[in-house]
Amino acid sequence: VTESRFDVVVVGAGAIGLAGALAFSRAGFSTCLVGPAPERRDGRTAALLESSLSFLRGLGVRSALDAASQPLRTLRLVDDTDSIFRPPPVEFRADEIGLDAFGRNIENASLIELLAAALRADGRADWRAELAAGLSGEDFSTVRLADAPPLSGHLVIAADGRKSCLRDQAGLEAHETRYPQVALTTILRHEREHGDVSTEFHTGSGPFTLVPLPGRRSSLVWVNRPPIAERLVALPDADLARTIEERSHRILGRIEIDGPRGVVPLSTLRVSTLHRGRLALGGEAAHAVPPIGAQGLNLGFADLEVLLDLSRTARANGGDIGSPALLSRYQQARQRDVQVRTIAIDGLNRALLSGLLPLDMARGFGLGLLARVGPLRRAVMRAGLGATRFSGRGSAAGSRSASAG
Ligand SMILES: Cc1cc2nc3c(=O)[nH]c(=O)nc-3n(C[C@H](O)[C@H](O)[C@H](O)COP(=O)(O)OP(=O)(O)OC[C@H]3O[C@@H](n4cnc5c(N)ncnc54)[C@H](O)[C@@H]3O)c2cc1C
Repeated sequence: VTESRFDVVVVGAGAIGLAGALAFSRAGFSTCLVGPAPERRDGRTAALLESSLSFLRGLGVRSALDAASQPLRTLRLVDDTDSIFRPPPVEFRADEIGLDAFGRNIENASLIELLAAALRADGRADWRAELAAGLSGEDFSTVRLADAPPLSGHLVIAADGRKSCLRDQAGLEAHETRYPQVALTTILRHEREHGDVSTEFHTGSGPFTLVPLPGRRSSLVWVNRPPIAERLVALPDADLARTIEERSHRILGRIEIDGPRGVVPLSTLRVSTLHRGRLALGGEAAHAVPPIGAQGLNLGFADLEVLLDLSRTARANGGDIGSPALLSRYQQARQRDVQVRTIAIDGLNRALLSGLLPLDMARGFGLGLLARVGPLRRAVMRAGLGATRFSGRGSAAGSRSASAG
């Protein structure tokens, strides 16, 4: 059987795989994407931060992206626990640090649709809409398909999600920490304007977050204990809407359910090595975090940016885009950012769940200080947005993080 050869083979047609295939093919690398277009809608949205937005705009999807997403200008944190140290709500406003917005919120399904449309319209990448059957070759450079000749790449990107079979086949170990929580996700239509404000109520079972979408619509991420989430997800629309109205203290007025529902288990997934042979992990195949602090997909776009940057530099210098040296630079560039953010999100989630008095006090005290002390609040916003980023040319810049879903 003759195999087809490409510079880059990307496996998985989620947001990361689609964006990866588009980015590499637009940069002139012969590229093949392997994976069926996802069809399941689960009401999940992604708050994309400025660094991700500028990466995506660079892929020629600016107007589609702007039309389908809503700016996030204010992030409000409300302590809704029954703690005796309950601080006042804290508001982070983007204009306090000279920004127009922290980022934009978009339905995952809309993002996937617009990236798939852009990839088809661009036409440079080959897209095999089927599942990869596995990997072969000593250097993991060959992707096997069930009924077609294999595909080989100088670089193979596993963007096949948190249960990545490519990662397992290359023997890259993943450690998953499961939380006793699930996220209920859906889309809401509401009576009042959201005013581009995302509100995160911190409750004893996890955050309850409303994130603005275009029109009088918002997405809901309600983190809860599994039995409660199962009860909620089984409610008829009208009853679920009333429950959400009450939980949100009616800040958006009357609410209707306006989209599909999803229930997603929460966990953190870490891998110690992001590459083996010619295989590099990206997106949730490489790291997964609970939906607190809007990090997941943003981390994945940063993975792609670094890989693309390193590959372009290698090509300009006549080098090999899947060499061990290049991929170990990828690992170095991404490891710290991913680790810092995973630890921060894990810590925040545990502090909320613990119910332990010292942690509760520390959280109440911290939020209270943030509410009152402007310079501290601004410093926290900048720290959240200003993670060190890496570029193949050795510069560090960019922005990542902030809150919201
Ligand atoms: C409730 C919730 C809210 C979230 N909110 C945010 C947020 O506000 N901001 C943010 O940045 N992130 C957020 N995230 C995280 C974000 O949704 C994920 O990081 C993102 O969807 C991961 O994208 P991915 O492309 O890496 O993986 P996936 O979306 O899982 O895509 C992987 C794809 O690979 C395919 N695949 C699997 N196996 C194979 C195979 N063998 N061959 C071919 N294809 C294969 C799958 O079918 C799938 O289409 C949230 C997550 C949750 C659960």
